[in-house]
Amino acid sequence: RMEKLPKEETVSLRNKHIASCVELFFIDDPLKIVRGAGQYMFDEAENKYLDCINNVAHVGHCHPHVVKCASEQMSLLETNSRFLHDNLVIYGKRITKYVPKELKICFFTNSGSESNDLAMRIARKVTGNHDVLVLDHAYHGHLTSLVCISPYKFAHPSGDGKKEWVHVVPVPDSYRGKYRSPDYSEEELSDLYFQEMVKVVEEAEQNGRKISLFYAESLQSCGGQIIYPKDYLKKCYHYLQSKGIFCLADEVQSGFFRTGSHMWGFQTQSEDIVPDFVTIGKSMGNGHPVSCLITKKSIAQKFGEKGLKYFNTYGGNPVSMACANAVLDVIENENLQSKVIEVSNFMLDELEKLKQKHEIIGDIRGYGYFIGIDLVKSKKTREPAIELARLILKLMRDAFILLSLDGPYSNVLKIKPPLCFNQANAEQLISTLDKTISDLRLKARFIPQADPSQLPLTRISNLPNRRLNHLCIYELFLRLAKQNPDVQTKPFFPLLLQLSSVI
Ligand code: PMP
Repeated sequence: RMEKLPKEETVSLRNKHIASCVELFFIDDPLKIVRGAGQYMFDEAENKYLDCINNVAHVGHCHPHVVKCASEQMSLLETNSRFLHDNLVIYGKRITKYVPKELKICFFTNSGSESNDLAMRIARKVTGNHDVLVLDHAYHGHLTSLVCISPYKFAHPSGDGKKEWVHVVPVPDSYRGKYRSPDYSEEELSDLYFQEMVKVVEEAEQNGRKISLFYAESLQSCGGQIIYPKDYLKKCYHYLQSKGIFCLADEVQSGFFRTGSHMWGFQTQSEDIVPDFVTIGKSMGNGHPVSCLITKKSIAQKFGEKGLKYFNTYGGNPVSMACANAVLDVIENENLQSKVIEVSNFMLDELEKLKQKHEIIGDIRGYGYFIGIDLVKSKKTREPAIELARLILKLMRDAFILLSLDGPYSNVLKIKPPLCFNQANAEQLISTLDKTISDLRLKARFIPQADPSQLPLTRISNLPNRRLNHLCIYELFLRLAKQNPDVQTKPFFPLLLQLSSVI
């Protein structure tokens, strides 16, 4: 048995000792995963889930080569990073081969947040400027400095709001943004959104603000899997760099061939852009906490100019670097990149067909294994289908497929599987999603449209199957909860489950 405790006890201990705000997937009925292999995760009852969202187990859960390299190094030496070690310098040499030649210097840290925070510290020191430019809806990490520059967090109703040193540029989202496709061509969208950035920068300058650094994910994740119009980043980088503002490509989610065609997301925008900083993490260690900030020699030299030292106890330790090297070995030896391209092309084509078939699918966007399905109430209005998105997520889980939701309205189903996700997995995902949405459509007439009191329980109990009952009750419950926001909904869940199983 891989469990140390029965699930109820795990839940009870968690409720006792872990803050309730610490995030869990499927908060109302969390999964207890006890082992992983390749693209699959297994719960305590040995149920096998297809993992379509694990952008950490990049080359597959517990990849044997990564496990072997990590455990061999673990049994040889693990220490802080104040000693010479081959794993670290070898990785530095290998990873800088993948970035533009100007970027030669690595700072190793333990998380994407640490790398993004370090970039802010360096940029402020080197430019002498304090302010930061970001895209709307962005998320760059959990440290205080990064929550301040992440609209995803600070603009939340319980967030602390925007600081005066943060400047937010509208995200070039051609589906929900200010300028949309098909009203404008891709080239026009790229120009229009670039002009929006210029406006924000000019306004900041007129107010006497001095910007040090521009952060952008190269494809935006938390904002709803946004793919920018071609050349948008190139225009931004050229403009900002000509003003002495540094540009940071946050590749924490989009790096390591997630896009299939390119190692880094920014390369999908254009081959000839050169960020001043690239931050990588998550997939870098296949789940082991290791991250890196890559920058130019001139910048690193200025940062350390007056003898200031950088030290990070675990950053670049031998075991972390063994994991990171092993991930690169797998990427280089298992030809994962071309498989991603092949399967993703199939998946995007099939999803496009589902979009034609189902009113609820408003937009399909993606690059490689970075795919978003924007769920809407109506294709015409593009109004987000928030509750249905939650329902679909749950039904997919019932079918042993793990997905998650993102975007400002939490209505974008995201698909970000490990790179070993294969053609058969893609087929299973597509057919299950198709069936789930078709079932919903078939039964949609039973789902109350307005006042939940108009749906008597006796009518629900006459419905054809149990799952449908479950669905209707769930939907009814969501509506009641929405109409009575001050009522604590969580305690009702056991009752809800009971009810759905008896009728
Ligand atoms: N940048 C991006 C784009 C991220 O998605 C995340 C984590 N979700 C981070 C930075 C922060 O990384 P970490 O959680 O490893 O600190």
